Amino acid sequence: MKDSIQDRISELLDNLEKTDNPIFITIDKDWLWKHVKEQATIEGPLSGKIIAVKDNINVRGLPTTCASRILETYYSLYDATVIEKIRVAGGILLGKTNMDEFAMGSSTEYSAWGEVRNPIDETRVPGGSSGGSASAVSAGFVDYALGSDTGGSIRQPAAFTGTVGLKPTYGRVSRYGLTAYASSFDQIGPITKTVSQSAELLNVIAGKDSRDSTSADVPVPNYLKTLQEKVQGYVVGIPWHLLEKGVDEDVLESFKDVISRLEKEGVRFKKIELKYADYAIATYYILATAEASSNLARFDGVRYGVNAKEQLQDLFSYYAKNRSKGFGPEVKRRIMLGTYVLSSGYYEAYYTRGQKVRNLIAQEFFTLLNEVDALMFPTTPTTAFKLGENVDDPLKMYLNDVFTVSVNIAGLPAISVPGKPGNHGLPVGCQIIGNAYEEGTILQLGHTIERSRI
Ligand code: GLN
Repeated sequence: MKDSIQDRISELLDNLEKTDNPIFITIDKDWLWKHVKEQATIEGPLSGKIIAVKDNINVRGLPTTCASRILETYYSLYDATVIEKIRVAGGILLGKTNMDEFAMGSSTEYSAWGEVRNPIDETRVPGGSSGGSASAVSAGFVDYALGSDTGGSIRQPAAFTGTVGLKPTYGRVSRYGLTAYASSFDQIGPITKTVSQSAELLNVIAGKDSRDSTSADVPVPNYLKTLQEKVQGYVVGIPWHLLEKGVDEDVLESFKDVISRLEKEGVRFKKIELKYADYAIATYYILATAEASSNLARFDGVRYGVNAKEQLQDLFSYYAKNRSKGFGPEVKRRIMLGTYVLSSGYYEAYYTRGQKVRNLIAQEFFTLLNEVDALMFPTTPTTAFKLGENVDDPLKMYLNDVFTVSVNIAGLPAISVPGKPGNHGLPVGCQIIGNAYEEGTILQLGHTIERSRI
Protein backbone atom coordinates (compact mmCIF):
# COMPACT_ATOMS: atom_id res chain seq x y z
CA MET A 1 0.00 0.00 0.00
CA LYS A 2 2.69 2.43 1.09
CA ASP A 3 4.75 1.81 -2.04
CA SER A 4 1.84 1.98 -4.37
CA ILE A 5 0.75 5.39 -3.11
CA GLN A 6 4.30 6.67 -3.49
CA ASP A 7 4.42 5.32 -7.04
CA ARG A 8 1.14 6.97 -7.80
CA ILE A 9 2.32 10.32 -6.48
CA SER A 10 5.57 10.08 -8.52
CA GLU A 11 3.56 9.32 -11.62
CA LEU A 12 1.21 12.24 -10.96
CA LEU A 13 4.12 14.60 -10.47
CA ASP A 14 5.60 13.43 -13.78
CA ASN A 15 2.30 13.99 -15.54
CA LEU A 16 1.89 17.40 -13.98
CA GLU A 17 5.32 18.40 -15.21
CA LYS A 18 4.22 17.56 -18.75
CA THR A 19 1.27 19.95 -18.71
CA ASP A 20 1.47 23.72 -18.99
CA ASN A 21 -2.12 24.12 -17.84
CA PRO A 22 -1.81 26.05 -14.53
CA ILE A 23 -4.27 23.85 -12.61
CA PHE A 24 -2.12 24.05 -9.49
CA ILE A 25 -0.60 27.13 -7.91
CA THR A 26 1.52 25.22 -5.40
CA ILE A 27 2.94 21.74 -5.34
CA ASP A 28 5.83 21.71 -2.90
CA LYS A 29 7.60 18.39 -3.41
CA ASP A 30 9.60 18.47 -0.16
CA TRP A 31 6.50 19.25 1.84
CA LEU A 32 4.55 16.62 -0.10
CA TRP A 33 6.93 13.69 0.43
CA LYS A 34 7.14 14.40 4.14
CA HIS A 35 3.36 14.61 4.28
CA VAL A 36 2.94 11.35 2.31
CA LYS A 37 5.19 9.60 4.82
CA GLU A 38 3.20 10.90 7.77
CA GLN A 39 -0.14 10.07 6.21
CA ALA A 40 0.91 6.53 5.27
CA THR A 41 0.82 5.64 8.97
CA ILE A 42 -2.81 6.68 9.33
CA GLU A 43 -5.66 4.23 8.78
CA GLY A 44 -8.87 6.09 8.04
CA PRO A 45 -11.73 6.52 5.59
CA LEU A 46 -9.53 8.56 3.23
CA SER A 47 -6.36 6.44 3.44
CA GLY A 48 -4.62 6.39 0.07
CA LYS A 49 -6.91 9.06 -1.39
CA ILE A 50 -5.25 12.00 -3.12
CA ILE A 51 -6.87 15.38 -2.61
CA ALA A 52 -6.37 18.85 -4.12
CA VAL A 53 -7.16 21.97 -2.12
CA LYS A 54 -8.39 25.29 -3.45
CA ASP A 55 -5.84 27.97 -2.70
CA ASN A 56 -8.11 29.93 -0.36
CA ILE A 57 -8.09 27.12 2.24
CA ASN A 58 -5.21 27.06 4.71
CA VAL A 59 -2.81 24.11 4.83
CA ARG A 60 -0.07 24.47 7.45
CA GLY A 61 3.34 24.98 5.82
CA LEU A 62 2.03 25.82 2.34
CA PRO A 63 1.27 29.22 0.80
CA THR A 64 -2.32 30.46 0.66
CA THR A 65 -2.31 32.94 -2.21
CA CYS A 66 -6.01 33.08 -3.15
CA ALA A 67 -4.52 33.51 -6.67
CA SER A 68 -3.62 37.07 -5.72
CA ARG A 69 -0.30 38.89 -5.95
CA ILE A 70 -1.08 40.53 -2.63
CA LEU A 71 -0.71 37.16 -0.85
CA GLU A 72 2.19 35.91 -2.95
CA THR A 73 4.48 35.59 0.06
CA TYR A 74 1.95 34.36 2.63
CA TYR A 75 2.55 30.95 4.22
CA SER A 76 -0.15 29.46 6.36
CA LEU A 77 0.71 28.80 9.98
CA TYR A 78 -2.29 26.60 10.65
CA ASP A 79 -4.66 24.08 9.09
CA ALA A 80 -8.25 24.88 8.23
CA THR A 81 -10.63 22.61 10.14
CA VAL A 82 -11.46 20.68 6.95
CA ILE A 83 -7.73 20.05 6.43
CA GLU A 84 -7.27 18.86 10.02
CA LYS A 85 -10.14 16.43 9.46
CA ILE A 86 -8.72 15.16 6.17
CA ARG A 87 -5.35 14.55 7.82
CA VAL A 88 -6.98 12.55 10.63
CA ALA A 89 -8.92 10.55 8.02
CA GLY A 90 -5.66 9.61 6.26
CA GLY A 91 -6.12 11.67 3.08
CA ILE A 92 -3.12 12.94 1.11
CA LEU A 93 -3.02 16.62 0.14
CA LEU A 94 -1.32 16.94 -3.24
CA GLY A 95 -1.26 20.72 -3.51
CA LYS A 96 -3.13 23.99 -3.86
CA THR A 97 -5.26 24.69 -6.91
CA ASN A 98 -5.71 27.74 -9.07
CA MET A 99 -8.85 29.86 -8.79
CA ASP A 100 -10.28 33.27 -9.60
CA GLU A 101 -8.55 35.83 -7.37
CA PHE A 102 -10.19 35.77 -3.92
CA ALA A 103 -12.87 33.44 -5.41
CA MET A 104 -14.39 36.26 -7.44
CA GLY A 105 -15.26 34.99 -10.87
CA SER A 106 -16.88 32.27 -12.94
CA SER A 107 -14.09 31.18 -15.27
CA THR A 108 -10.71 31.00 -13.44
CA GLU A 109 -9.45 33.65 -15.86
CA TYR A 110 -9.05 36.22 -13.07
CA SER A 111 -5.96 34.62 -11.53
CA ALA A 112 -2.52 36.12 -11.05
CA TRP A 113 -1.19 32.64 -11.93
CA GLY A 114 -2.72 32.52 -15.40
CA GLU A 115 -5.99 31.17 -16.74
CA VAL A 116 -6.83 27.50 -16.32
CA ARG A 117 -7.95 25.63 -19.44
CA ASN A 118 -10.81 23.13 -19.31
CA PRO A 119 -9.30 19.62 -19.59
CA ILE A 120 -12.31 18.50 -21.65
CA ASP A 121 -11.68 21.18 -24.29
CA GLU A 122 -8.65 23.39 -23.78
CA THR A 123 -10.11 26.27 -25.82
CA ARG A 124 -12.74 26.70 -23.11
CA VAL A 125 -12.88 27.83 -19.48
CA PRO A 126 -13.26 25.29 -16.69
CA GLY A 127 -15.69 27.58 -14.86
CA GLY A 128 -14.88 29.23 -11.58
CA SER A 129 -13.94 30.19 -9.15
CA SER A 130 -12.85 26.65 -8.14
CA GLY A 131 -11.72 25.95 -11.74
CA GLY A 132 -8.37 24.50 -10.67
CA SER A 133 -9.99 22.05 -8.25
CA ALA A 134 -12.61 20.92 -10.79
CA SER A 135 -9.95 20.55 -13.51
CA ALA A 136 -7.66 18.56 -11.21
CA VAL A 137 -10.46 16.03 -10.68
CA SER A 138 -11.64 16.08 -14.29
CA ALA A 139 -8.10 15.50 -15.63
CA GLY A 140 -7.53 12.67 -13.14
CA PHE A 141 -4.71 14.32 -11.17
CA VAL A 142 -6.51 13.71 -7.88
CA ASP A 143 -9.29 11.56 -6.49
CA TYR A 144 -11.09 14.44 -4.75
CA ALA A 145 -10.83 18.19 -4.46
CA LEU A 146 -12.02 20.84 -2.06
CA GLY A 147 -13.64 23.96 -3.45
CA SER A 148 -15.52 26.88 -1.96
CA ASP A 149 -18.89 28.13 -3.11
CA THR A 150 -20.16 31.64 -2.43
CA GLY A 151 -22.41 31.98 -5.47
CA GLY A 152 -21.77 28.81 -7.47
CA SER A 153 -18.00 28.31 -7.39
CA ILE A 154 -18.20 24.57 -6.71
CA ARG A 155 -21.25 23.71 -8.82
CA GLN A 156 -20.56 25.77 -11.94
CA PRO A 157 -16.98 24.47 -12.53
CA ALA A 158 -18.24 20.95 -11.78
CA ALA A 159 -20.90 21.41 -14.48
CA PHE A 160 -18.31 22.69 -16.99
CA THR A 161 -15.79 19.91 -16.38
CA GLY A 162 -18.09 16.89 -16.10
CA THR A 163 -17.54 16.41 -12.36
CA VAL A 164 -19.79 16.30 -9.30
CA GLY A 165 -19.84 19.43 -7.11
CA LEU A 166 -21.58 19.69 -3.76
CA LYS A 167 -22.27 22.90 -1.88
CA PRO A 168 -23.34 21.91 1.62
CA THR A 169 -25.90 23.83 3.71
CA TYR A 170 -24.47 27.06 5.14
CA GLY A 171 -23.13 25.94 8.52
CA ARG A 172 -22.70 22.27 7.64
CA VAL A 173 -18.94 22.56 7.11
CA SER A 174 -16.63 24.75 9.18
CA ARG A 175 -15.23 27.82 7.43
CA TYR A 176 -12.34 28.13 9.88
CA GLY A 177 -9.21 28.56 7.76
CA LEU A 178 -11.09 29.57 4.61
CA THR A 179 -10.20 33.08 3.41
CA ALA A 180 -13.51 34.90 3.60
CA TYR A 181 -15.00 36.39 0.44
CA ALA A 182 -18.62 36.94 1.53
CA SER A 183 -18.90 35.35 4.95
CA SER A 184 -22.67 34.91 5.02
CA PHE A 185 -22.58 32.98 1.72
CA ASP A 186 -19.28 31.02 1.74
CA GLN A 187 -19.19 27.23 2.15
CA ILE A 188 -16.48 24.64 1.56
CA GLY A 189 -17.46 21.46 -0.29
CA PRO A 190 -16.26 18.51 -2.37
CA ILE A 191 -15.63 18.22 -6.10
CA THR A 192 -15.32 14.58 -7.18
CA LYS A 193 -15.86 12.21 -10.10
CA THR A 194 -18.81 10.41 -8.51
CA VAL A 195 -21.63 11.20 -6.11
CA SER A 196 -20.58 8.53 -3.63
CA GLN A 197 -17.11 10.10 -3.46
CA SER A 198 -18.74 13.43 -2.57
CA ALA A 199 -20.70 11.63 0.15
CA GLU A 200 -17.49 10.08 1.41
CA LEU A 201 -15.66 13.42 1.62
CA LEU A 202 -18.65 15.20 3.18
CA ASN A 203 -18.73 12.50 5.89
CA VAL A 204 -15.22 13.56 6.86
CA ILE A 205 -15.47 17.36 6.65
CA ALA A 206 -19.00 18.04 8.01
CA GLY A 207 -19.86 18.94 11.58
CA LYS A 208 -19.92 21.59 14.29
CA ASP A 209 -16.66 23.39 14.97
CA SER A 210 -16.20 25.59 18.02
CA ARG A 211 -13.84 27.80 15.97
CA ASP A 212 -16.60 28.75 13.51
CA SER A 213 -19.61 30.13 15.35
CA THR A 214 -21.74 29.85 12.21
CA SER A 215 -21.16 26.10 11.96
CA ALA A 216 -24.28 24.22 12.97
CA ASP A 217 -24.73 21.76 15.78
CA VAL A 218 -26.85 19.42 13.68
CA PRO A 219 -26.17 15.65 13.66
CA VAL A 220 -24.22 14.47 10.61
CA PRO A 221 -25.67 11.28 9.14
CA ASN A 222 -23.54 8.70 7.37
CA TYR A 223 -24.03 9.95 3.82
CA LEU A 224 -22.70 6.77 2.27
CA LYS A 225 -25.47 4.84 4.02
CA THR A 226 -28.09 7.39 2.96
CA LEU A 227 -27.11 6.76 -0.65
CA GLN A 228 -28.50 3.24 -0.46
CA GLU A 229 -32.03 4.49 0.19
CA LYS A 230 -34.53 4.59 -2.66
CA VAL A 231 -35.77 7.80 -4.26
CA GLN A 232 -39.14 6.30 -5.18
CA GLY A 233 -41.97 8.62 -4.16
CA TYR A 234 -39.84 11.75 -3.95
CA VAL A 235 -41.45 14.87 -5.36
CA VAL A 236 -39.13 17.33 -7.12
CA GLY A 237 -40.17 20.87 -8.07
CA ILE A 238 -39.14 22.42 -11.37
CA PRO A 239 -39.41 26.15 -12.14
CA TRP A 240 -40.19 25.73 -15.84
CA HIS A 241 -40.79 29.47 -16.26
CA LEU A 242 -37.07 30.10 -15.66
CA LEU A 243 -36.09 27.72 -18.42
CA GLU A 244 -38.19 29.24 -21.19
CA LYS A 245 -35.63 31.79 -22.25
CA GLY A 246 -31.87 32.14 -22.01
CA VAL A 247 -31.12 28.45 -21.61
CA ASP A 248 -29.29 26.77 -24.49
CA GLU A 249 -31.12 24.03 -26.34
CA ASP A 250 -28.55 21.32 -25.57
CA VAL A 251 -28.61 22.15 -21.84
CA LEU A 252 -32.39 21.93 -21.81
CA GLU A 253 -32.34 18.63 -23.67
CA SER A 254 -29.88 17.17 -21.17
CA PHE A 255 -32.06 18.41 -18.30
CA LYS A 256 -35.16 16.76 -19.77
CA ASP A 257 -33.22 13.55 -20.19
CA VAL A 258 -32.37 13.59 -16.46
CA ILE A 259 -36.06 14.08 -15.65
CA SER A 260 -37.09 11.06 -17.68
CA ARG A 261 -34.41 8.92 -16.03
CA LEU A 262 -35.59 9.92 -12.55
CA GLU A 263 -39.21 9.33 -13.54
CA LYS A 264 -38.29 5.72 -14.32
CA GLU A 265 -37.05 5.40 -10.73
CA GLY A 266 -40.38 6.60 -9.35
CA VAL A 267 -39.60 10.29 -8.78
CA ARG A 268 -42.54 12.61 -9.41
CA PHE A 269 -42.17 16.14 -10.74
CA LYS A 270 -44.17 19.23 -9.95
CA LYS A 271 -44.19 22.59 -11.70
CA ILE A 272 -43.31 25.35 -9.25
CA GLU A 273 -42.75 29.06 -9.46
CA LEU A 274 -39.84 31.09 -8.14
CA LYS A 275 -41.29 34.60 -8.21
CA TYR A 276 -38.18 36.35 -6.98
CA ALA A 277 -35.65 34.53 -9.16
CA ASP A 278 -35.13 37.57 -11.39
CA TYR A 279 -33.73 39.51 -8.42
CA ALA A 280 -31.16 36.90 -7.39
CA ILE A 281 -28.18 38.16 -9.40
CA ALA A 282 -28.62 41.80 -8.35
CA THR A 283 -29.14 40.83 -4.71
CA TYR A 284 -26.13 38.56 -4.69
CA TYR A 285 -23.77 41.04 -6.34
CA ILE A 286 -24.82 43.82 -3.94
CA LEU A 287 -24.54 41.78 -0.75
CA ALA A 288 -21.50 39.68 -1.69
CA THR A 289 -19.48 42.71 -2.79
CA ALA A 290 -20.49 44.60 0.38
CA GLU A 291 -19.16 41.75 2.50
CA ALA A 292 -16.07 41.44 0.31
CA SER A 293 -15.19 45.11 0.64
CA SER A 294 -15.14 44.66 4.39
CA ASN A 295 -13.40 41.26 4.40
CA LEU A 296 -10.65 42.39 2.06
CA ALA A 297 -9.83 45.52 4.08
CA ARG A 298 -7.22 43.56 6.04
CA PHE A 299 -5.07 43.06 2.92
CA ASP A 300 -3.27 46.36 3.15
CA GLY A 301 0.39 45.38 3.21
CA VAL A 302 0.60 45.94 6.96
CA ARG A 303 -1.72 43.41 8.57
CA TYR A 304 -1.60 41.07 5.57
CA GLY A 305 -0.11 41.23 2.13
CA VAL A 306 2.95 42.24 0.18
CA ASN A 307 4.10 45.78 0.86
CA ALA A 308 6.06 48.41 -0.96
CA LYS A 309 9.57 48.68 0.40
CA GLU A 310 9.60 52.43 0.28
CA GLN A 311 8.79 55.29 2.61
CA LEU A 312 5.56 57.13 1.90
CA GLN A 313 4.23 60.30 3.51
CA ASP A 314 1.30 58.77 5.29
CA LEU A 315 -0.41 55.49 6.08
CA PHE A 316 -3.26 56.07 3.66
CA SER A 317 -0.95 56.42 0.65
CA TYR A 318 0.93 53.36 1.84
CA TYR A 319 -2.26 51.26 1.96
CA ALA A 320 -3.37 52.66 -1.39
CA LYS A 321 -0.06 51.82 -3.00
CA ASN A 322 -0.03 48.24 -1.67
CA ARG A 323 -3.63 47.55 -2.57
CA SER A 324 -3.40 49.09 -6.05
CA LYS A 325 -0.40 46.92 -6.79
CA GLY A 326 -1.58 43.75 -5.10
CA PHE A 327 -5.17 43.33 -6.31
CA GLY A 328 -6.26 42.45 -9.85
CA PRO A 329 -8.96 44.35 -11.77
CA GLU A 330 -11.97 42.18 -10.83
CA VAL A 331 -11.17 42.33 -7.11
CA LYS A 332 -10.79 46.10 -7.32
CA ARG A 333 -14.11 46.36 -9.15
CA ARG A 334 -15.84 44.37 -6.40
CA ILE A 335 -14.24 46.33 -3.56
CA MET A 336 -15.40 49.56 -5.18
CA LEU A 337 -18.91 48.21 -5.79
CA GLY A 338 -19.15 46.93 -2.22
CA THR A 339 -17.82 50.14 -0.73
CA TYR A 340 -20.33 52.11 -2.78
CA VAL A 341 -23.37 50.10 -1.68
CA LEU A 342 -22.28 50.46 1.96
CA SER A 343 -21.53 54.17 1.81
CA SER A 344 -23.78 56.57 3.68
CA GLY A 345 -26.49 57.85 1.40
CA TYR A 346 -26.60 54.62 -0.60
CA TYR A 347 -26.69 52.09 2.24
CA GLU A 348 -30.49 52.11 2.56
CA ALA A 349 -31.08 52.07 -1.17
CA TYR A 350 -28.77 49.15 -1.90
CA TYR A 351 -27.54 47.21 1.11
CA THR A 352 -30.69 47.35 3.26
CA ARG A 353 -32.91 46.72 0.28
CA GLY A 354 -30.66 43.86 -0.78
CA GLN A 355 -31.06 42.28 2.67
CA LYS A 356 -34.84 42.53 2.40
CA VAL A 357 -34.88 40.88 -1.01
CA ARG A 358 -32.50 38.22 0.29
CA ASN A 359 -35.10 37.41 2.89
CA LEU A 360 -37.88 37.19 0.30
CA ILE A 361 -35.84 34.88 -1.93
CA ALA A 362 -34.89 32.65 1.01
CA GLN A 363 -38.45 32.46 2.38
CA GLU A 364 -39.76 31.45 -1.02
CA PHE A 365 -37.27 28.57 -1.17
CA PHE A 366 -38.09 27.48 2.40
CA THR A 367 -41.84 27.46 1.66
CA LEU A 368 -41.41 25.46 -1.53
CA LEU A 369 -39.11 22.97 0.16
CA ASN A 370 -41.84 22.25 2.68
CA GLU A 371 -44.02 21.11 -0.19
CA VAL A 372 -41.48 19.14 -2.24
CA ASP A 373 -38.40 17.08 -1.37
CA ALA A 374 -36.05 18.96 -3.69
CA LEU A 375 -35.91 21.47 -6.52
CA MET A 376 -34.12 20.89 -9.79
CA PHE A 377 -32.85 23.09 -12.61
CA PRO A 378 -29.74 23.21 -14.79
CA THR A 379 -26.56 24.36 -13.01
CA THR A 380 -25.76 26.83 -15.80
CA PRO A 381 -27.65 28.19 -18.82
CA THR A 382 -24.84 27.19 -21.22
CA THR A 383 -21.99 24.72 -21.46
CA ALA A 384 -18.38 25.88 -20.89
CA PHE A 385 -17.77 29.08 -22.83
CA LYS A 386 -14.61 29.95 -24.78
CA LEU A 387 -11.59 31.43 -23.02
CA GLY A 388 -11.74 35.21 -23.37
CA GLU A 389 -15.42 35.24 -24.33
CA ASN A 390 -16.74 37.01 -21.20
CA VAL A 391 -13.61 38.22 -19.50
CA ASP A 392 -13.94 41.85 -20.61
CA ASP A 393 -17.66 42.05 -19.93
CA PRO A 394 -18.28 41.70 -16.18
CA LEU A 395 -22.06 41.79 -16.52
CA LYS A 396 -22.05 38.90 -19.00
CA MET A 397 -19.79 36.99 -16.63
CA TYR A 398 -22.12 37.67 -13.67
CA LEU A 399 -25.17 36.51 -15.62
CA ASN A 400 -23.60 33.08 -15.88
CA ASP A 401 -24.42 32.62 -12.19
CA VAL A 402 -28.17 33.01 -12.70
CA PHE A 403 -29.00 29.47 -11.50
CA THR A 404 -26.48 29.14 -8.70
CA VAL A 405 -26.53 32.30 -6.57
CA SER A 406 -30.05 31.99 -5.14
CA VAL A 407 -29.02 28.78 -3.38
CA ASN A 408 -26.33 30.69 -1.45
CA ILE A 409 -28.74 33.53 -0.78
CA ALA A 410 -30.98 30.96 0.96
CA GLY A 411 -28.05 29.01 2.49
CA LEU A 412 -29.36 25.71 1.12
CA PRO A 413 -27.43 22.61 -0.02
CA ALA A 414 -27.16 21.86 -3.74
CA ILE A 415 -25.33 19.42 -5.96
CA SER A 416 -24.36 19.53 -9.62
CA VAL A 417 -24.30 16.15 -11.33
CA PRO A 418 -23.34 15.51 -14.97
CA GLY A 419 -26.25 14.78 -17.29
CA LYS A 420 -26.15 13.79 -20.96
CA PRO A 421 -23.40 15.83 -22.70
CA GLY A 422 -24.39 18.75 -24.90
CA ASN A 423 -23.12 20.00 -28.27
CA HIS A 424 -19.51 19.09 -29.11
CA GLY A 425 -19.65 16.52 -26.28
CA LEU A 426 -19.35 19.27 -23.66
CA PRO A 427 -20.48 18.41 -20.12
CA VAL A 428 -23.85 19.63 -18.81
CA GLY A 429 -24.64 19.85 -15.11
CA CYS A 430 -28.00 19.19 -13.51
CA GLN A 431 -28.50 20.96 -10.18
CA ILE A 432 -30.54 19.54 -7.31
CA ILE A 433 -31.36 21.75 -4.34
CA GLY A 434 -32.42 20.37 -0.97
CA ASN A 435 -33.84 21.55 2.31
CA ALA A 436 -31.40 22.81 4.95
CA TYR A 437 -29.18 20.00 6.32
CA GLU A 438 -30.74 17.47 3.96
CA GLU A 439 -27.67 16.82 1.85
CA GLY A 440 -28.66 13.14 2.03
CA THR A 441 -31.70 13.69 -0.21
CA ILE A 442 -29.82 15.48 -2.98
CA LEU A 443 -26.98 12.97 -2.81
CA GLN A 444 -29.51 10.14 -3.27
CA LEU A 445 -31.11 11.85 -6.26
CA GLY A 446 -27.68 12.60 -7.74
CA HIS A 447 -26.58 9.02 -7.21
CA THR A 448 -29.71 7.79 -8.99
CA ILE A 449 -28.99 10.03 -11.99
CA GLU A 450 -25.43 8.77 -12.11
CA ARG A 451 -26.43 5.09 -11.92
CA SER A 452 -29.07 5.48 -14.62
CA ARG A 453 -26.33 6.64 -17.00
CA ILE A 454 -24.57 3.30 -16.97
N1 GLN B 1 -19.19 33.55 -9.76
C1 GLN B 1 -19.61 34.08 -8.50
C2 GLN B 1 -18.84 35.33 -8.19
O1 GLN B 1 -18.05 35.70 -8.98
C3 GLN B 1 -19.47 33.06 -7.43
C4 GLN B 1 -18.10 32.95 -6.88
C5 GLN B 1 -18.00 31.97 -5.76
O2 GLN B 1 -18.90 31.17 -5.52
N2 GLN B 1 -16.91 32.07 -5.04
O3 GLN B 1 -18.99 35.93 -7.18
